Amino acid sequence: MDEIKMRAYAKVNLGLDVLRRREDGYHDVKMVMQNIDLFDKICIKKNAGRGITMRTNLAFLPTDGSNLACKAARLLIDEFDIDSAVYIDLYKFIPVAAGMAGGSADAAAVLYGMNKMFELGLSLEELMARGVKLGADIPYCLMGGTVLAEGIGEKLTKLKPFPDCYFVVAKPPFSVSTRFVYENLVLDSHTKHPDIDGILGAIEQGDIYGVADRLENVLESVTAKEYPDIEGIKDRMKECGALNALMSGSGPTVFGIFDDEQKAETCNRILRQDARVKTSYVARSCAGGFDN
Ligand code: ATP
Repeated sequence: MDEIKMRAYAKVNLGLDVLRRREDGYHDVKMVMQNIDLFDKICIKKNAGRGITMRTNLAFLPTDGSNLACKAARLLIDEFDIDSAVYIDLYKFIPVAAGMAGGSADAAAVLYGMNKMFELGLSLEELMARGVKLGADIPYCLMGGTVLAEGIGEKLTKLKPFPDCYFVVAKPPFSVSTRFVYENLVLDSHTKHPDIDGILGAIEQGDIYGVADRLENVLESVTAKEYPDIEGIKDRMKECGALNALMSGSGPTVFGIFDDEQKAETCNRILRQDARVKTSYVARSCAGGFDN
């Protein structure tokens, strides 16, 4: 195999709790992750020679060793002394620095694709152990689907697939640094923690209304405070018939859950006219994976 074409899916967090700040600077989290069918396209080719070359459709994204896709390739090339040139072509659709794990999804796809292309024989667990060195969301992106993530994000429990429904995903015109959000998060006796166990119970029952009732993200206390438009977009989604709406990850992307396709499409059209929103999509929940 000289070429592999893949999809790298975005995620939203149906629930996101931060339990504590650890000595090493990381945070212990408890998050319910869900892939949606909004994806980057990524193609890897091998050739004679050595080194990594990368191209992307977004001019502002780095294509040198600092791109997460290149970091993933470098990690495997160094460990397995891969004697080939690797070419990565990345077509981004997932908004960047938006709380949707776009970079992590790309890195996961590169790990998965190179493992196949160079017949490295690594198991999913072995790929995840390498992925977590590059980013806490990468193990989840390798597993995909509906997942409970604990620890720093690397302790994963596969959940029952989330029932089919519609997600309207709206990205405001600004980006948010994940580091800034975690550094400004206050965890004390006043912190209101999401009911993650309640979300898990509702997922087990296949009850989207039970999940929607409990959508909560502790990081909203930082990002939505800094950017009040986030609450405004959530309210707009609910006025349009969303069962509920939430900020994903560290933000600023907001998603609404709909049980009705028409309402989701109408909400999407309305948000595309809204000055607080730069891009908006309708997506479905999906099981992840990398097949093109
Ligand atoms: P998370 O939800 O995991 O916190 P995010 O969706 O908020 O991630 P990303 O889109 O992954 O954020 O981008 C975060 C930063 O990583 C950006 O500042 C970007 O320049 C850098 N980056 C490196 N490689 C990539 C990539 N392949 N795609 C997107 N961003 C990348």
